[in-house]
This record gives sequence, C-alpha cells and structure tokens, in this order.
Amino acid sequence: MNKTPKSIMKEVFGYDEFRENQLDIINSTLNKEDAIVVMPTGSGKSLCYQIPSLIFDGLTVVVSPLISLMKDQVEQLREVGIKAVFLNSSLTYEAYEENIQTIRNNSSRLLYVAPETLFQPRILDLLDSIKVDCFTIDEAHCISEWGHDFRPEYRKLSQIREDFPDSVFTAFTATATPIVQKDMIRSLNLNEAKQFISSFDRKNLFLEVVNKNDPLTQTVDFINRFPNQSGLIYCFSRRQVDELYQTLNENGYSVKPYHAGLSDIVRHKNQELFIRDDIQIIVATIAFGMGINKPNIRFVVHYDVPKNIESYYQQIGRAGRDGLNSHCLLLFGYGDIGKIKYFFKDKTDNELKIAYNQLDSILNFSETEECRRKPLLNYFGEEYEQDNCKMCDNCLQDKKEQINLTIPVQKFLSCMKRTGEMFGVHHIILVLRGSKDKKVLNRNHDKISTYGIGADISNKQWNFLARQLIRKKIIIPDEQYGSLKLTSQAWEILKNETEFFGLWQEETRKKKAFVSTDYDTNLFELLRSKRKQIADERNVPPYVIFSDKTLIDICVHYPQSNDSLLKIHGVGQFKIEKYSNAFLPIIIEYCLEKNISEKQNVKLVKLPKTGIKKRRFEEVGEMYNSGKSISELRQHYQVKSQTIYTHLTLFVQSGNELRKGILTESSLSDEDRKQVVTQFNELGFEALSPIFYALKERIGYDEIKIMKIALLNGELNTE
Ligand code: ADP
Ligand code: ZN
Repeated sequence: MNKTPKSIMKEVFGYDEFRENQLDIINSTLNKEDAIVVMPTGSGKSLCYQIPSLIFDGLTVVVSPLISLMKDQVEQLREVGIKAVFLNSSLTYEAYEENIQTIRNNSSRLLYVAPETLFQPRILDLLDSIKVDCFTIDEAHCISEWGHDFRPEYRKLSQIREDFPDSVFTAFTATATPIVQKDMIRSLNLNEAKQFISSFDRKNLFLEVVNKNDPLTQTVDFINRFPNQSGLIYCFSRRQVDELYQTLNENGYSVKPYHAGLSDIVRHKNQELFIRDDIQIIVATIAFGMGINKPNIRFVVHYDVPKNIESYYQQIGRAGRDGLNSHCLLLFGYGDIGKIKYFFKDKTDNELKIAYNQLDSILNFSETEECRRKPLLNYFGEEYEQDNCKMCDNCLQDKKEQINLTIPVQKFLSCMKRTGEMFGVHHIILVLRGSKDKKVLNRNHDKISTYGIGADISNKQWNFLARQLIRKKIIIPDEQYGSLKLTSQAWEILKNETEFFGLWQEETRKKKAFVSTDYDTNLFELLRSKRKQIADERNVPPYVIFSDKTLIDICVHYPQSNDSLLKIHGVGQFKIEKYSNAFLPIIIEYCLEKNISEKQNVKLVKLPKTGIKKRRFEEVGEMYNSGKSISELRQHYQVKSQTIYTHLTLFVQSGNELRKGILTESSLSDEDRKQVVTQFNELGFEALSPIFYALKERIGYDEIKIMKIALLNGELNTE
C-alpha cells in the first residue's frame, strides 16, 4: 500500500483536511529535520508525530510526562487500529515484558515513555538494538525552570539527541511564553531545528467576564444552559470547592469535587467519572486539569478570579479541544483580588513586583472594553488585529452611548468622603441605599447626609457605576483592605469642575449558549447512550469510541450505509469495522420512523479553524534584519518605538538571530547601562516594570527595552 500522510489522515483518522502547519510538520519529520512545535491545546499536535510513525520503518519514541496521558493516547490509537504501547510503573510485570517484546520485534509503531523509564539502562540498550526513526518530546516545556511544570528529569533529554544521531527529534508544547520557548530550544540542544509556532488564539472559545454579585445564582443560571454537557468550575480555595460542590450536589446537579486535599483515590475516581461522562461537572482548584485529554468540555467557569493570565489561559484551554464552540465565563469580583493579594504578604520585594505585574494582566483582561482577545493574546506576545472577534462579550455588545452621570457619581463620591474613605464599594452602596444593616447602624452611618440619597438606584446599577469609577481611576481601592480612596479627578467632579460621562445600567447580555444545536438532538441522545454503553463495556472513555463532533456530524447527515458513514468526520475504515454494526441500525431505524433520508450536502455550521499566521514579531524582526531602521519600522507600522522593541524582543526570545547594532538607538551613559544590566541580572528578564521601579523610574521603558534586546542578542557584557 502506498501510504501518504494524506491517505493516512483520511483512512485511519477519518479527517479530510490537515489543519495549518500539520502537513509541514509531518513532511519535515519525514525528511528527518528536527522541529520545535508550539501550538495551542486542541490544535492537533499528536497527529504530527503519529502520522510519520506509520510511514517510518522504525520505531517512534514519544516522551511524555504523565502516565494518564500515555494511557489515553495509546487507547485512542488502538481504537483506530494503530499498534502503540507504553512503558511505565503502572503496568504489571507481564504486561511490561510483553510490551518490551513488541518493541524488540518491531510490531509496535509507537512507544510512549516517561523520561525516568527512558533513561533506564535496559531501555536505552533496547532502543540501541533496534531502529528508532523518531524521538518526540511531548509537553517539552517541562524542561524549563521558567515554566509552570518543570520536571528535572527532562533536563537529561538533550543527551538523547547525541546518542541517537540517526533519529529525527521533534519537541511539542502548548506553552506560549517566549522565554520558556527559548529555554526549551536551548536545553534540548535543538538550535538547528525548524520552528513551527502557531497563533494562540483559540477561536472556538467564547470569552465572557461578568461582575460577580451573586456567584452561586450566576453559576447555576449559566450551567443550566448546558444540559447534559461537560464543564469545569474553578475555585480559588479547597473550602470554596467543597462548599460549591455540596450546594450543587444537593440541588441535583451531576457534579464531583477535585482538589489536593482529597485522597489520591477519590481524586482519581472523580476524574475518571468525569472523563467517562458519568458525571457532568467537576468543581476544582487549579490542581485539576493536567493530564486531561477530554475533548468535549463545553464550558469553564471561573468562580473566582484566577491569579494570572497564564493560568486562566491554561484552564479555559481545556474547553473545546474538539473544535466545537465552548463557553468560558469569569466571575469578576474585587473581593477576589484582595484574596489573591493576601498571599503576597510572604513574598520578597522582587517576587512582589512580579506578582503585581501578573495581577495587573488579569485586571487588564477583565476590565477591558475592547475585544478580550487583545489583552489575552498580547500577554503572549501576539497582536490581535481583528476589530471584532464575534466570540467575546465585548465584541457582541453594541457600543452604548455614554451619558452624563455626574449627579449619581457625586452622590457616590460624597458618601465615600463622609465615611472617611474607609469603606469598600459594598458598604458605600448600603449607606447610599439607606440600608438598616448592622454594619451601617453600628457606625452611625444612618445619621450622615448621604444616607439613603441613592435609594432609587438599584444595587446592581450602583455596582456597575462603581466599577466604571474604578476602571477610570477616579477612585482607587486600597490594595490591602479594599477601602476606596478619592483621587484628584474625583475631587474635580465633586467640586463641579468636571463632568462624568459613562454607561448607565448594565447591559442585559444576550443569554445565548455558544454551542451550536443545529443538529438532531434526539438522534444525538440515542447515539450518545449507545456510545456510553460500548465505552463502559470496553472500559474506555466514550470519546475514544467516537467524538461528540462525529456524533453531531451523523445527526446532520443521517448516513445509512457504511459508505456514507465513512464520509463522516472522524470515521476511518477501522472504526467502520468495529462500530458500524452497533450504530448504523440505530440511525436506520430512527430515520425510518421519522421518514428521514440521507442528507449529502448539508454543511455543518462552519466551525472556526485554528488560524495560524506568521506572527507580527517575525515580520518585524525580518524587516529589521533586512536593514530597516527603528524609525522606518515605526513609520511603516504606525506604532510607538516601544512596540517595535517589544517585537524585536520576542523575535530574539524565539531563538532568532537579530542584526547587531541596536545599541545605537540608546542614549544611556555607560554608567546607566551598567546599572540596567545589574538589575536584569538580579531581577531576571520576565517583566520590565520591576526593573523600571528598581531604577527609581529614572530610565524609560524604551531604554530598558533596548538594553534587554542587546543583552538577549549578546551585544552586551552581562558582567
Ligand atoms: P493537542 O495535543 O494539540 O492538544 P490533539 O492532538 O489532542 O491536540 O488534537 C485535538 C483533537 O483534534 C483530537 O480529537 C484530534 O483527533 C483532532 N484533530 C487533529 N487534527 C485534526 C484535523 N486535521 N482535522 C480534524 N480533527 C483533527
Ligand atoms: Zn472579541
């Protein structure tokens, strides 16, 4: 048989098209060119090494950090008829030996191992004695100490590159930060490798942030929109997880908790129930998620504000791996910011600066009135250039007219003043609305002149107004206690020197679940329960049999023969042989009963593709290298010089060589340069603001950025 990547894609995996970069990565692997691949979760990294493994004569070794991931992958591969095995401590002696045997006699295409296992002399000898065509490092960011899941054993992997010179090396990660990527390339000795870096935009995730005023009701309203669908709810603390779990459970939701305080056995059991569609929802702390491959997670709720953008991105990233639209809701409350800051108290000065920086990034994201993809992708060094993503709350909201709100704002500000700027939003609103709450009466706040002067305005509206004042920095919540302080802008409004224009009344957002239901949901339920039954019999997760997307595709096209079934997304020859007997009769019977015939040309509601394009920083870097000056680049892109420097930084951090000479842009004295270098050495390269503040705000960001580029590009002595 003539096996091409394209034919394998269709016949084995049942997919019609490659996603962007997939074919290039496969071809470059087949040409034995090393590669570094950075692609977001769910974009289809696995196929990039699985397809070559079916074309190579020899073995493909996949190094993977987690036992659960290996098991999952091997199960999925066997379901499409590919021989794959794993070696780790979870296997019985017999199973282990049997797997070794299949490798020795070349009857397995892929071997999944953890690095610990790989470095055992017995395994190295075994691999030495056979032909290994490809080494693939999955989750390659684990090699970097900058990353969030550093694994010391990964460090030794660079050795393997030298020990197996005839094998091709590929490394995969979904970690977006340039510094980790750079570290990865360096530590794995893959300087010569081709780089495939994709956009981090997950187009099928709908992003929404709402003010947290009644989180329980907000959460319940939200999950009610997803009957029978899987979802995750992330909380800040174990206690919160337990409480929320209990409440939801008592109210009849299909839910389990997950956090580090539960025993391994309970955690594992709950995770397994979720993966197998036995329960619908997991309420979890951040501990949940690593090693979860479940493709049909339809929603993620952040019950509390995550402590930085990176963890937020990672957590929402678990939704919609199957490419179907999924909904991410963040409940945003200033009280949470206080909780996060509480844990800052043990940090050193430098750690503190970094922590504040990270917190700023999540605040930016939550408070923006622009498309949410802008601050989100910007954090990862990408510029989002579309005006309307159509997949975030801000983009779907009509631009509302700003109206003159000076009077209510003056009421709010003067109430703050009369209570001594000692209280937070909640208390001020109680006073304004004339509440009889003990907290108000005990302090005699019912005696002051602003008591009750805002009773005609709802609690919700007051909150909405207060958020605008905070966002516009007219009032500032105290970092430690949340009490509100007036700024000079506030005084101007109080003294009638300026007016305040803003939005009145919170927009009632369209209550639309962003999950397409343009398919026959009755048939879907029938197929789903059949899938569940088979999965349980075979003791595998349901998605291993067929993905949700496959079932949906069936419910749109009603295939009633094997040939038609083969045209369905995710159905290859092997799946036909295994499952057509189980599923076809259900479809045929259903169609007979309802008098439905096969539908050939219906297009499923077009699912967004993962867009992958050349990133702006690469374009800028290449133009700079071609001889363009900074001011020419500024003119060309119509941006500030700082922006150009940011692009160049990313360019260098992604392992590219930059033309020397950036220091000609700097006007710092030698002494100042020395000081900046010292601060970089001390504070690291992650964030610039710690350096800016350490230098007492004396040296501008432009200059600091130039120095950073020069350092990264080897144009400065680091002493
Ligand atoms: P990653 O490892 O990048 O997170 P996976 O390799 O698990 O992503 O792929 C995510 C899902 O997308 C899987 O269900 C996979 O089968 C599917 N997939 C991958 N490539 C394609 C493609 N070209 N067309 C359709 N589905 C694909
Ligand atoms: Zn948007």
